[in-house]
Amino acid sequence: MVDNPRLTTRFAPSPSGWLHLGHAYSARFGCDVARAGNGRFLLRIDDLDLVRSRPEYEAGIFEDLAWLGLDWDPDIRRESNHLADYQAVVDRLVGEELAYPCFCSRREIRAEIARMGAAPHGPEGPHYPGTCRGLTTAEQQDRIGAGAVPAIRLDTEKAMAKTGPLTWTDREVGQIVAQPDAFGDPVIGRKDGGAAYHIAVVIDDAAQAVTLVTRGQDLFQSTHLHRLLQALLDLPVPEYWHHKLIHDEAGNRLAKRSDAAAIRTLRADGLSPEQVWARLGLGPPE
Ligand code: GLU
Repeated sequence: MVDNPRLTTRFAPSPSGWLHLGHAYSARFGCDVARAGNGRFLLRIDDLDLVRSRPEYEAGIFEDLAWLGLDWDPDIRRESNHLADYQAVVDRLVGEELAYPCFCSRREIRAEIARMGAAPHGPEGPHYPGTCRGLTTAEQQDRIGAGAVPAIRLDTEKAMAKTGPLTWTDREVGQIVAQPDAFGDPVIGRKDGGAAYHIAVVIDDAAQAVTLVTRGQDLFQSTHLHRLLQALLDLPVPEYWHHKLIHDEAGNRLAKRSDAAAIRTLRADGLSPEQVWARLGLGPPE
């Protein structure tokens, strides 16, 4: 008999700003779901953006969550410790011809789209027009030899042909047919050598044995692509629960820079953790 894996959720903030009310809601959501199921609630530091990530923001994450009365599993994962793993996966996809080097600059991509007259629009903007998809190995080598540094893009059509139809499950919505082609050919390896979020997130969720990904609805579309990557990389498929987003009084979604809603601003203003939770319509955590 195979044991059911233990319910495991996670909260994966980026240390590129202070946590705000939207983060508090998301962390609380994952924490409550884990506690209700006698599961684990994990923390992951999404510090892939090496330029914008700062140690004081990371320290702020721990401090603010603890002040709010949340606790998490001591086994914390920091993405910047796993860059070689992400790179190896990107290399593997290139080796399997499911991903390809792209030498285009943003300006060249814009010009090509303008020349074509239009491009389908996806969650990350207009689809890449496919300029570098058909380059031969010799052409790729020539460009690299001349000093050009490529990004790596997923060949989504080829990848989908390989996996066949896929589905994933959201607790709120139910079973969903994956439509990763909505992204065109997304970047999975960045020009600066850094990993792209989409690769890191599927590897991390598997490495941390996450069984239920709880996160905001802003990432709902990304799950289509994550499902495809999981299939290509033979990774286990977690269940998903995309929760509502928190808006400010003017009805705007809270963004990273909304300092007015930063937990530490509210704390400095003299609010208690209970009062902060009350702003989200919640009582204190159990
Ligand atoms: N670091 C991402 C964010 O703050 C979260 C990624 C995820 O939960 O998958 O939006």
